[in-house]
Amino acid sequence: MPRFLFGAHTGVAGGLHNGLIEGHEIGCDTIQIFTSSPRQWAAKPLTDDAIAVWKAKVAETKLSPLVAHDSYLINLASPDSEARQKSLRAFIEELERCEALGLDYLVSHPGAHMGSGEEAGCAQIAASLDTVHQATAGFHVKVALETTAAKGTTLGGVFEHFPAILSRVAEPERLVICLDTCHIYDAGYDLVGDPKGVWDRFAATVGFDRLKIIHANDSKFGLASKRDQHAHIGEGTIGDAGFVAFLSDPRLPESLALIVETPEEDGKGHRENVAKLRELLAHV
Ligand SMILES: [Zn+2]
Ligand SMILES: [Zn+2]
Repeated sequence: MPRFLFGAHTGVAGGLHNGLIEGHEIGCDTIQIFTSSPRQWAAKPLTDDAIAVWKAKVAETKLSPLVAHDSYLINLASPDSEARQKSLRAFIEELERCEALGLDYLVSHPGAHMGSGEEAGCAQIAASLDTVHQATAGFHVKVALETTAAKGTTLGGVFEHFPAILSRVAEPERLVICLDTCHIYDAGYDLVGDPKGVWDRFAATVGFDRLKIIHANDSKFGLASKRDQHAHIGEGTIGDAGFVAFLSDPRLPESLALIVETPEEDGKGHRENVAKLRELLAHV
């Protein structure tokens, strides 16, 4: 079993299968995509043809695991019933698309409590996830709750929010965790100065057995900035040494997916970031 599976959030302009082609061409083992526009509610339904083309490319490229990221508009923690119902419908449709495509994980930001408080927000997310799970009984795809940068009333910026959600969910075995290095650093976890201490806190709250994906992103602003601006690997406040120290922990599970969501402007793309991570972690 490999120590890490390396990948990137790839583009799907012209068809979802183009995300697989890009991933394969730039040397990925795994990819993440959006199955619809992340800033729009309406999603185009998947055609049988698009699903068939996707599955043929999966067989050809052998990329695994296959990950989607949900729409940024969805808020499963919303205290407003109408907004929550809209989010639930969109989220269930996200999972239906993932299942039709044979994806493994749908990464999702837990949500924002909008003033109802952290405890009520976590309880609302758990109730929403129960509704989602009931509507998607028997699905292979799992929801991967992502750590966040703790902006505003966003939940998931402290590790304790995850057990607060998981302990209330009827089917917690259907949930895994995605840890974003930029987000947790921006939220105040000093993975550069105290990598072992951060993992100790993660172990005591979430646990390594649920950790399936790491979004490996450097950070433009850094520790406790709550900004969430991704930088190229090694060019932000985490830096090469920060990634090596944080990802060398012997407790990390085998075959952990490391996916970059780094910016694609300024002449440097995912290919360079994936190669850089492979090189940095070659002897870990
Ligand atoms: Zn995310
Ligand atoms: Zn992320």
